[in-house]
Amino acid sequence: MRAIRRFTVRASLPEPLAGLRALATNLRWTWHPPTRDLFASMDDELFRRVRDPLRMLLAVPSARLEELAADEDFLARARAATEDLERYLTEERWYQEQHGADGAPRGIAYFCMEFGVHEALPNYSGGLGVLAGDHLKAASDLGVPMIGVGPLYRAGYFRQGLSLDGWQLEHYPVIDPNALPLELLTGEDDKPVLVQVAMPGGRTLHAQVWQARVGRVPLLLLDTDVDENDEDLRRVTDRLYGGDADHRIRQEILAGIGGMRAVRRYCELTGHPQPEVFHTNEGHAGFLGLERAREIIDEHGLGFDEVLSAVRAGTVFTTHTPVPAGIDRFPVDLVQHYFGDGRLLPGIETQRVLALGAEDNPGMFNMAHMGLRLAQRANGVSQLHGRVSRRMFARLWSGFDEDEVPITSVTNGVHGPTWVARELTALLGGKHKEWGHKGQLPSQQGVSDEELWALRRDLRQKLVVEVRRRVRDAWLQRGASALELGWINTVFDPDVLTVGFARRVPTYKRLTLMLRDPERLKALLLDEDRPIQIVVAGKSHPADEGGKQLIQQIVRFVDDPDVRRRMVFLPDYDMSMARYLYRGCDVWLNNPTRPLEACGTSGMKSALNGGLNLSIRDGWWDECYDGSNGWAIPTADGIRDPLRRDELESAALYDLLGQQVAPLFYDRDGNGVPQGWMSMVWHTLDTLGPRVQASRMVREYVETCYCPAASTVAAAAKDSYEGARSLSEYRKRIDVLWPQVKIFDTDLTAESLVVGSEVRVQARIDLAGLDLSEVDVQAVVGSVGDSDELHNAVTVSMQQEQIGLFAATLRLPHAGSLGYTVRVLPKHSLLATPAELGKVVHA
Ligand SMILES: *Cc1c(COP(=O)(O)O)cnc(C)c1O
Repeated sequence: MRAIRRFTVRASLPEPLAGLRALATNLRWTWHPPTRDLFASMDDELFRRVRDPLRMLLAVPSARLEELAADEDFLARARAATEDLERYLTEERWYQEQHGADGAPRGIAYFCMEFGVHEALPNYSGGLGVLAGDHLKAASDLGVPMIGVGPLYRAGYFRQGLSLDGWQLEHYPVIDPNALPLELLTGEDDKPVLVQVAMPGGRTLHAQVWQARVGRVPLLLLDTDVDENDEDLRRVTDRLYGGDADHRIRQEILAGIGGMRAVRRYCELTGHPQPEVFHTNEGHAGFLGLERAREIIDEHGLGFDEVLSAVRAGTVFTTHTPVPAGIDRFPVDLVQHYFGDGRLLPGIETQRVLALGAEDNPGMFNMAHMGLRLAQRANGVSQLHGRVSRRMFARLWSGFDEDEVPITSVTNGVHGPTWVARELTALLGGKHKEWGHKGQLPSQQGVSDEELWALRRDLRQKLVVEVRRRVRDAWLQRGASALELGWINTVFDPDVLTVGFARRVPTYKRLTLMLRDPERLKALLLDEDRPIQIVVAGKSHPADEGGKQLIQQIVRFVDDPDVRRRMVFLPDYDMSMARYLYRGCDVWLNNPTRPLEACGTSGMKSALNGGLNLSIRDGWWDECYDGSNGWAIPTADGIRDPLRRDELESAALYDLLGQQVAPLFYDRDGNGVPQGWMSMVWHTLDTLGPRVQASRMVREYVETCYCPAASTVAAAAKDSYEGARSLSEYRKRIDVLWPQVKIFDTDLTAESLVVGSEVRVQARIDLAGLDLSEVDVQAVVGSVGDSDELHNAVTVSMQQEQIGLFAATLRLPHAGSLGYTVRVLPKHSLLATPAELGKVVHA
C-alpha cells in the first residue's frame, strides 16, 4: 500500500530531557564529537544506524526515554552539553576580540545555491555546497555574524546507483523538512512567514523559510512547496541543478530576490543585525543586488546610478569557474520575460537590468558579468584561479593589463573540526583555540612516528570495512545474490598503500586518466611486493551521457575478477562516504586538465588527516605544493591535442606511483615504520594544516573583503547616501570628460642608465576640466620584450609642477630592456581600485 500523504510526528520528550532538543537541532553536533557521544550513549546500537541526534529522539523507545529521564548521570551530562552549547553560542570569539570596535560589519549575508553542512541535511551536490557549509561553520567558530541563504530542495541532488552493466542510475528520494533539523520561520502571528516574488502574468511565487542552525549561524532555506503556489510554482525548488533554463532562472530569482526578502524578514523578527555586506558565492544568486537597489530606491528615492554605487560597495562576488562554458547564462528574452512587466522589481527599468548582464553575445545574459558589475570586490578561489579569472574577464576592464583587473583571490579552505578524524585530533592534542593558528605544530607534540603510523593504519582499516560494506550493498542493489559475494571479504587490505580518487565527473577532471594504459595500472595494483589499492567514487550530472560512460568504463574495469580486490568504484559519493575516504587514504589523487580546477578541496581534507597529495599542479596544489608534502604530476601544458596530453600525463602518473610513491610507502625500518613517508606526513600536517583551514579562508574574507566593504558602505550611505551620489556624479563627469583627457610630450631623462639610478619622467596633460584630486597621473617603468608590453612594472604617481606639466622621479627597477609610459586613472575615495571603472588614458 502507498500512503496518500506523509506527515511527521514529533517525539514527546519527558520534561527532564527537554534540553536535548536544542542540542539535536543545532548542527554544531556535526563537528562536535562530545555532543554525538551524548546521543550515542542513549542507545549505542541505534545511534550507529540513524547517526543523527534528531532522528535519534524519534527512534528511541519511550521506555528508554523514561529511563534516561531518571538517570542522574545522563541528565548531568546532558546539562553540561547544553551549557557548553549555550556558551559556544554566546561567548566572545575571534571576531568580537579582533573586530569588536573597528567598524566591521554587524551582519553579513552569504548566498549560495547549495549548502552541504552534513548528510543529515542533503541540500548539496558537491564541492560548491560543501565549501559553503564549511564557510558557515568556520564563520560560526570565529564568531562572524553571518546569515546563510539559499533554496531548500525537496529532492536535493540525486542519489546514485549502478545498473548491472555499470550505467549510472539516478533516484531522487523526497525529503520531509519536518523530519530534518529545520524549523519554520514564523511571524508575529505564529504563522509561517511567506516571502513573495512576482512572476509574469500577474502571478506570485511564495516561499516559506526554513531555518537551520549551523552553530551560531542561521541558515535560511526557501521552499516553494506551499499551498499558496500554483502547481508549477510549487516545483520551483524541486531539485538541485535539474530542469531547463526557465526552471533555473526561477530558482535564481527566488534565491537572490526572495533570499534578500527572507533575510530582511528574519532580522526584523529575531533582532539579528541587518547585514551590511552581501557575499554572492558564485553568480547564481546575483539578482540579490537588484533587490537591494530596489530597496534603496524605494526608501531614499535615489536614481539607479547612485544606488548602484551603494549596492556595489556592499557586495562581494566569488567566481568558481575557470571556463567560459561553465558560466551561468540565460537568453536575454527569458530575463525580459521575468523582469519586463516591472512587477518583480518596481522602480527598476528592465534595460538597466539587461545592461548588467551584457556580454559579447547580444542574445545572452551573463550572470558572472552581472556579478562583477554589481560587486565592488570580486575574487577567484586559488591564486592560479585568480590569474585565470583576471584573464577570462579582462574584457570588462579593457585598457588594463591582466594583472590589474580587479579580481583578487582567496584560496578556499576546509573546516578542520568537520573533516579531521577525531582519533587524530585526540592524538595530536588539538587543544589550542580552533580559530587561532599559533598552536603547536603537530610534529612538536611529542608523538612518535610509530604512534602516528599506527593511527594511520587504524584509519585505513576503518576505510577497508566501509569499502567492503559499500561494495556489498552496491552488488546487492545491482542484482547479485549474497551467496555470490563471498569474495568481498577479501576486497582491500589494511596494510596496502591506498589511493583515493573521488570527485564529480565533468570531462576536465579526467576520471579515467588512470585507465589510459590498463595493463600498467593492473601491474601497479597487483605488484607482489608493493601493491596499490584504489578507491574511486563520483557522480555524473544526470544529463551528461559522456560522464556516465566514463563511470561505466571504471566499473567495467573493476568488475574484472583479477582487479576487484584492489580497485573499487563506490556509488553515491556524498559527505558520509567522503569522510572515510579523506581519513583512510594514504594518497589523494587529482588529475584535472590544468588550469580547469578552480581550487579543489578534497585534497585539503586528506592533507589534514595526514594523507599525501598526488596531483596535477592545478587549483590550490599549484600554490601549496612545496616538493616535500606530496607529489606534482608534471603537466603537458602547451600540448593542444588532448589525447596526446592524456598519454603524457598518465605515463607520468604511473611512473610516480610505481617509482616514487609505492617504494617510499613500503620502505620500512626495523619497527615496520616507513620513515621517509612519515616525515612527509608530519611535514604535511605542520605546513598545510594551518593553510588549508576554512578558518584561515574566512579570516581572509573578513579582513580583505567584508571589513573594507563595510567601511565603503558606510561612506556611501552617510548623510542619506551623499557618498553614493557623489560617486555617481563623478562617474557621470568621467563618462563625459574622459575621452578628452590627453597626454603629450612625454619624456624620460636620466643621468645614467644603471639599474637603481634615478630617472625623471615628465608629461604634459590636458585634464579636460577634471580636478587634480579626481585623477591619478602615473609614470610606469618596466621590462619590455619583443611586443613592447611592460612586465614587472613599477608605478609612481606624478605631481603637477606647473599647470599642465606633471613629473615624477623614480629608480630604474631592472637591468635589460626597459620601457616606460604615462597614464591617467580615475580617483575617488569610494573606488576600491583605480581599475574599477575600466577607464584609463595612455600616453
Ligand atoms: C570536499 C568535497 C567535494 C569537493 O571536492 P573537490 O576536490 O573540489 O572535487 C565534493 N564532494 C564532497 C562530498 C566533498 O566533501
